[in-house]
Amino acid sequence: MQRYTSYIPYREALEGKGISCIEEVRYFLSRIEDHKNLNAFLEVYGAEALERAEAIDAKIASGTAGKLAGMVIALKDNICHLGHKVSASSKILEGFESIYSSTATERLLAEDAIIIGRTNCDEFAMGSSNENSAYGPVLNPLDHSRVPGGSSGGSAAAVAAGLCHVALGSDTGGSIRQPASFCGVVGFRPTYGRISRHGLLAFASSFDQIGTVTNNMEDAALIMEVISGKDIYDATVSSRPVPEYSKHLETEEKYNLVYLDECVNHPGVDPEIKARFSEILNDLQGLGHPNKNASFPYLDQVIPVYYVLATAEASSNFSRYAGMTYGHRSKDAKTLEEIIVKSRSEGFGPEVKRRIMLGTFVLSEGYYDAYYNKAQKVRRLISDHTNNLLKENDFLILPTAPATAFALGENTADPIAMYLADIFTIQSAIAGLPSISLPLGWHSNGMPFGIQIIGRSYEEEKLLAFSNYLMNKFAKRGK
Ligand code: GLN
Repeated sequence: MQRYTSYIPYREALEGKGISCIEEVRYFLSRIEDHKNLNAFLEVYGAEALERAEAIDAKIASGTAGKLAGMVIALKDNICHLGHKVSASSKILEGFESIYSSTATERLLAEDAIIIGRTNCDEFAMGSSNENSAYGPVLNPLDHSRVPGGSSGGSAAAVAAGLCHVALGSDTGGSIRQPASFCGVVGFRPTYGRISRHGLLAFASSFDQIGTVTNNMEDAALIMEVISGKDIYDATVSSRPVPEYSKHLETEEKYNLVYLDECVNHPGVDPEIKARFSEILNDLQGLGHPNKNASFPYLDQVIPVYYVLATAEASSNFSRYAGMTYGHRSKDAKTLEEIIVKSRSEGFGPEVKRRIMLGTFVLSEGYYDAYYNKAQKVRRLISDHTNNLLKENDFLILPTAPATAFALGENTADPIAMYLADIFTIQSAIAGLPSISLPLGWHSNGMPFGIQIIGRSYEEEKLLAFSNYLMNKFAKRGK
């Protein structure tokens, strides 16, 4: 499908003058056109990408090209890119253009990456199937009757279908890892605070994190070292130095792994996913990576805690969409109150409204202690428990999702069933830990599924290296 397995051989070919960025961009543009029915892109910057490719070809020829020269990247439609539209797949931001670039976007551009377009997603990143987009669902490239996962469904589908080299997504409770699992690609959510969220449209600020969707570990590592690190525009970003992740992808170390009984033995886990998971654990044991089980008594609390806290934060973040300073303003509103009420009623989709109402309720007087405060306490318990497990063990290993991609429309009438798709991805988001979904399994229904590894806070280097080892050992289809 793709002509290069990763950026490094592509760059070598660029330097060897065998090929050009222009050819590469043309190739992707024609693939995007051929795969329009996937609805992965909301907008493609064809002419701009070609112009940029030409300029970067010249830089390569003169030896002045940046680290990601010619890498073709898609941005999830909630990441700002100066002078380009950004809508978070919502009607409320229809026509709105970014007035600055996110720090991540700026850093990619400074290293001569090429941004080819913005990808479809669930409205304001709220969802697990991409069916909440105001611009229609995305189809799973491996089976068009199924969803690609969400909320970064367009990013995952674009990478899986070979429409770009890599994509950026955002992960609040699993929105990079779950679609990566459904589409058979690598989805990485770094530690909370590793990458600036300046210019990422906020959903739930104590969870939101930018991350990568790639076909391999090399590309994830390269992008990580470009976009991570301190930023004066985001006070939540750590000033810890950023390692050269791509130079440390090989590891000979033996790691201690822990898995959680309640997750593996959860009745909702597909038996083939469970079988593959056990097989990998067994093989790893044989390769010198001991694993043990542990109990995770909070599995039933993970989804409620997330939905109380994330909706509370969203209800407060979304007060900015009031039809006043930007975004949609209702045409028939006359008074100030009507502007706010009508603009929001017309602009937001049903899932966003459901969450704003839920979030406002859990923050309201009389309920704050029972819901919001209680959820904060349980968040701490889950976080402490997870960090304690990682004190004694190098990595936590678990399936990314309980099942493979479901059919379009299958869960739309049942929000609880939809929320359950994130049962295994929320734990690390609650604890702010780096976590990755690796495409290590294939189901007899023809669909891929991911195995998830959670590492210690800021130990991305080790997590990426171990992931690379796992990809080399287990990623081949059918093993
Ligand atoms: N699917 C989860 C939700 O709907 C997670 C979303 C995300 O990570 N942005 O909230």
